Amino acid sequence: MAIIDIKRNEVPIRENRLGAVTGYVGTIGDLHERATNCGVGNRERCFTQASACSSGCCQNQLGSISDALVVNHAPVGCAADSVAGNVNFKSGARLRGLDYTNVQIISTNLEERDTVFGATDKLRDTILQAYERYKPKAIFVTASCVSGIIGEDIQSVLNELKEELDIPLVPAFCEGFKTKVWASGFDAAFHAVLHGIVAPPRSDVKSNKVNFVNFRGSARKEIINTFSKLGVEPVFLLQHSTVEEIRRISEARATVSICGTLGSYLGNGLEQHYGVPYVNTEQPHGISGYKNWLRSLGTLLEAEDAVEAHIAAEEARIAPELEEIRARLKGKTAVIGMGPSFGHNYTRVLRELGVEVLWAATWHFDQNYDHGEVPESTKRLAEADESLQVSVGDQQNYEIVNLLGKLKPDIYVTRHGGSSVWATKMGIASYMITDEYAAFGFNGILNFGNVIIDKLTNRSLARKLAERIKLPYSDWWIAQDSFSLLNAEGF
Ligand code: SF4
Repeated sequence: MAIIDIKRNEVPIRENRLGAVTGYVGTIGDLHERATNCGVGNRERCFTQASACSSGCCQNQLGSISDALVVNHAPVGCAADSVAGNVNFKSGARLRGLDYTNVQIISTNLEERDTVFGATDKLRDTILQAYERYKPKAIFVTASCVSGIIGEDIQSVLNELKEELDIPLVPAFCEGFKTKVWASGFDAAFHAVLHGIVAPPRSDVKSNKVNFVNFRGSARKEIINTFSKLGVEPVFLLQHSTVEEIRRISEARATVSICGTLGSYLGNGLEQHYGVPYVNTEQPHGISGYKNWLRSLGTLLEAEDAVEAHIAAEEARIAPELEEIRARLKGKTAVIGMGPSFGHNYTRVLRELGVEVLWAATWHFDQNYDHGEVPESTKRLAEADESLQVSVGDQQNYEIVNLLGKLKPDIYVTRHGGSSVWATKMGIASYMITDEYAAFGFNGILNFGNVIIDKLTNRSLARKLAERIKLPYSDWWIAQDSFSLLNAEGF
């Protein structure tokens, strides 16, 4: 098990810390068995298309804290991901009935001359001006490829400014070139929080809070209601939380997450350093995931009876509609393309709805999480059907298009617009899941099933696009092995 060192200002990337891979093809049984025993060797590609960057994940997590500010020490283009982050932030504000504001992410706008002469003065000025203008409660400085390659000493600048500014000044080292696993940026953000914001628990405080690591929190009302039956209150992290709330998360009674990829680092960090237990089951998507997750939380809170009463009532309530949905989805097929936690959880959810998953592609795979075990969602999927076909690739769309062209599923289910658009252009119904709570628990599985039915019923957009669009991928490529550009292990 990796020990999380919160005294260091930098977290090791997932490839080194969790044995994360971005190249694999095989079955879920083989993937799980090798991750549990000898380990999966990564397979490099001899050709890659554009992918994503860990810096965006880091900036958008930290930039979504209501009263903090991010200075991105980078060329201005590195802040491009903040556009999507801003949309999510405003969406979270709408859910909470808050005024619309922008994420507070400021770029130092590194230019060519800065790469020659250095830009620590520019960084110092930017931090001071940002503080003057916005009076944030904390400032995070996120690194970039350029600041990393020219060796900018971000920590020294922050150390000097600590004399002048009486707020936490925290670096987040998320240079994009360091990793192919963009989720390493989540870890960089949560490490910055653990390293620079979270305070040790106060001995005289008895908290009734449960940390809930998520993105926008669309199901917050339902969660608040459910948690009240267990005698606790959720603290949603990080979007729209405050620096003071984050400072106190070490006092919570437990930590849970909507996504194993997102929550593993913070959850295990809080458990290792402050004894806040982290719920390590699969995530609360669909029925069995939600039940296992809630039961684990209920055990930690000694609220088993309340959990069982809730589960029994809810299961009985949704049973008739769930049966109808299953009848309508019988015989339908799907291909999945998502991050690893969502991918393996949603494969299970689709199977709970009676949909046959022909292939589950994930954008990377962590061979273990920070508590030292293979992800529970992977383990349970392997136990259910070890022959399920899976692959791992950092959203290489040429592989996805090839798979869709061969497998011709009824629907392609993904979490990324840059991936779903290809299925639509091929005439295949697609579902881009923007809401992390799309299949959350008992209500979620009904909503999710009904949306899938809608997507399968209304296919005219995909059909008409496919009639008019010429794909850049030729029939020759679709006829090739989907993974013919994946090297053997060790090459
Ligand atoms: S890969 Fe590097 S240069 Fe590109 S956006 Fe990320 S940090 Fe910036």
